[in-house]
This record gives sequence, structure tokens and C-alpha cells, in this order.
Amino acid sequence: MAADHETSIFCLQVHFYYITIAPTHLSIPMELKIKFYGTRGSIPVCEPQFQQFGGNTTCIGFYHHDRIGIFDAGTGVRAAGKDILENDIYQKNITIVFTHFHWDHIQGLPFFPPAYASDRVISLLALGESRITRNLEKAITQQMGEEYFPIALNKMGARFNFLMVNRKNIPNFYQTQTSSIKLNHPGGCFGYRIEVEGRLIVICTDVEHTDTIDPKVVEIAKDADLLIHDAQYTDEELASHKGWGHSSFNQAIEVAEMAGVKQLAMTHHDPHHDDEFLKAIEKKCQDRFKDCLLARDGMEISF
Ligand SMILES: [Zn+2]
Ligand SMILES: [Zn+2]
Repeated sequence: MAADHETSIFCLQVHFYYITIAPTHLSIPMELKIKFYGTRGSIPVCEPQFQQFGGNTTCIGFYHHDRIGIFDAGTGVRAAGKDILENDIYQKNITIVFTHFHWDHIQGLPFFPPAYASDRVISLLALGESRITRNLEKAITQQMGEEYFPIALNKMGARFNFLMVNRKNIPNFYQTQTSSIKLNHPGGCFGYRIEVEGRLIVICTDVEHTDTIDPKVVEIAKDADLLIHDAQYTDEELASHKGWGHSSFNQAIEVAEMAGVKQLAMTHHDPHHDDEFLKAIEKKCQDRFKDCLLARDGMEISF
């Protein structure tokens, strides 16, 4: 009953998007587009040798017909917020969907510029049949307690909604068919499958496959036009990081091959992997799977 109520709230908000967007203000063309705002895993990095791939932690922008939805609020969400303001996207209600609540997926929220605008509504959404947090509001606000940050979430300016949708299917997320699965990751993490206008985008930011590839991940990624997959480690590094919750480059490619995906974007780069290292790895990966790349902060993939 509660889940139905929560879902209906969400659907109402989706409906709200249509009536609050002013098309004459828009500069982003009508298209389906993914923009990577944060591709670093674990912790941000900013030294000169990391500038090409970027050092912001996980944040993915999903643009569909002049609207933006956001997956995760790592430090990259600051740039996503700047894009919204600078491109003059008048979208009253902005939804941020969380894969999970490790720091590298929430730590940018205190610096999300639209959150300081009193005319915005920020909907923070966690979903899945098996919850990874019992208290979404607490998971988000405790990092903004006065011991840690000067402005409390409820003093930022925007109105926040906390949406815990206890289902795996969210049919009305930005006019898409979106479903989720729980991934193997310490504390849990959700992967998302977004079907829209005949295109399929799958997001699995943090996943560990153990000794064999997780068939659930292959299933959710089946025939994807774009698979965004964790690739934090080399095979050698993975061997000494069992239980840390992440994948190797080769495992990400293996999933892409098994699932028959058209394009693979690898993300959640290890903070020890600098630009030269990642460029060399990317070339090796492309020798094995032609249509793959390592995501970079600011990179866009349009459909
Ligand atoms: Zn992570
Ligand atoms: Zn994590």
C-alpha cells in the first residue's frame, strides 16, 4: 500500500515536468543523451595527471526531450547542477536516482546548485524490491549534519522529496520503462535498465562478479545499446581486492560480450589510475571489444 502511494506521488511529479518546462528557454536540443559528470570511483582526485579522464565521483546525467534525470550525486553532480543553470533548463522538479549510498555516490549533493533555489523541487529516489536503506532521508541528511557541513538540507532552499519506491519497475521515469536489479556490492547497489524510444541503456556502476560473471547482470544488460559498467581494476588488482565490490576491465567486457551490447562505457575509475594508465588500458580493451571506451568527466553519448 505504501509503495503504491509512493509510486503515485512520483508519477504525479513526472506529470509535473510537462507543465513546468518552458520550451523557449531551452538550449539543449531534443535528443536522448547520456552525459558523464563523474567517472571516478571511491574518492575524487584532482592532480594534473588525472585531468583528461577527470576526478569527480559518480554522477550520470540522463537527458530525454529537454529534461534531465540524474543517477547518483557524487562530486560530479555539482557540474550537472551548473549545466542545468547555465543551459537555462527550467525544470522545476529534478529527480536524482541513487544506486546506493556510499560516499562517492552522495558526497556532491551539498554542492548541487539547483538545491539552493527556492523554486526547485529535488526528488531523491531509491528503488528496488529489496531496499538497501531503511531510511532514505537519514542516509542523505546525516552527511550534512552540523558536524560535517554548515547548511542543513532543509535550509538549502529547494524543497526535497524522499521517495522510497518498493518496486523494481518504475514505468514512468521520464517517459521510460525503467527497472532495477540488486547488484553484488557491499551494502547493496542497484543496477538500472532504462528503455526509451526503442533504445536501451543499462547502468551498473558498482558491481562485483566473484569467480564467474553474475548472470543477473548479463540478463539486465541483454542487447543494450549502451552498457555503463564498473571497471575499477585490472585482473591483477582484482585478485587482491576481493570483497571490495568492484569489477575488472575484462569482466566488464565479458558482460558486454555475453549480453550482446552495442556499446560499452566503463566507469568508476580507480583513484590510482592516472590518464596515461587509463589511455593504455582503453586501447587494450578496444582491441578486444571494438565499441568500448572508458568514460570521462564531461563525455556525452547521444542516441
Ligand atoms: Zn562507488
Ligand atoms: Zn559503493
